[in-house]
Amino acid sequence: MAKRVLVVGGAGYIGSHCCRLLEDRGDEVVVFDDLSTGHRGAVRSELIVGDIRDPAALRAALRGRGFDAVMHFAARAMVGESMVRPSLYFALNVGGTANLLDAMRDADVPAIVFSSTCAIYGAPQTQPVDETHPKGPLSPYGLSKLQVEQMLETCRALEGLRASSLRYFNAAGAHPDGSLGESHDPETHLIPLALAAAMGARPPLEVFGDDYDTPDGTCIRDYVHVMDLASAHALAMDAMLAGSPGGAWNLGSERGHSVLQVLESVARVTGRPVPHRIAPRRAGDPPALYASSALIRAELGWTPQRRDLDGIIETAWRWARSPRW
Ligand code: UDP
Repeated sequence: MAKRVLVVGGAGYIGSHCCRLLEDRGDEVVVFDDLSTGHRGAVRSELIVGDIRDPAALRAALRGRGFDAVMHFAARAMVGESMVRPSLYFALNVGGTANLLDAMRDADVPAIVFSSTCAIYGAPQTQPVDETHPKGPLSPYGLSKLQVEQMLETCRALEGLRASSLRYFNAAGAHPDGSLGESHDPETHLIPLALAAAMGARPPLEVFGDDYDTPDGTCIRDYVHVMDLASAHALAMDAMLAGSPGGAWNLGSERGHSVLQVLESVARVTGRPVPHRIAPRRAGDPPALYASSALIRAELGWTPQRRDLDGIIETAWRWARSPRW
């Protein structure tokens, strides 16, 4: 049966892909977004422009509308910014989510899927990282996401809220039809920067360190396709609406790729070499970070469809050549 879903932060990169997946399978979507980093053009459904720091706006959006569930993507998500403005991260990511949970309770909305991150683990002590790995965020951004997970667990235990946290590794790629994609300002992520460098639209890519203890000396990350992230959200929501209390799961491809391997893949896909130079390490980057996603495969039957790096980058390339915003 079609679900009614409020997607908070649904104009952003991952949220907009989730909205598309829900709409394509017949669910009714309403987006709540302040458009601070999201894009109006990414929203096909009803859009409520509002800020999660405004409790009245959230109550008005939720009350009396018969939502089955909330998906929550709205957050500031830049590690570097969080190091210089931690209070913003606590006010928005943590305080805003507290407002959302209270408004959900007020409106009797029983379930939430929350956009969490591998940054809650901090420096990995074992690889691949599974859900039992110790939590030790290294930035206010990671801490804000961990604090929200703890709020969700508490509301699940004490209020009967159904809550699922999905811990993304490196979200990548774009909608395969080319109608949605990644557009950050400023752009800091490797794949869009490498594609722009290959097109000559940006200066040569800076490779942040080639002296790590990895096979080619560059950092290893786990790139997971944004539509595979979207399908996990739908599975988590469906499980909760069928009676599950929810849970917390990693979302990765279980494969690591180095920065240089990403540049080689970009060159294969675009047919153009990626101009680059070796730059100093970026503060806070662990040498390698990749996930075990065995738990969500076993518990929710998640099966990522786009695990091949070239295939992921092909979708990002289609978007990079003709972005709509
Ligand atoms: N990276 C890089 N040059 C860039 C941007 C990123 O070498 O201009 C590296 C970064 O050090 C990391 C990987 O690419 O090892 C992925 O970085 P990104 O910022 O895309 O995601 P993160 O892993 O920080 O979430």
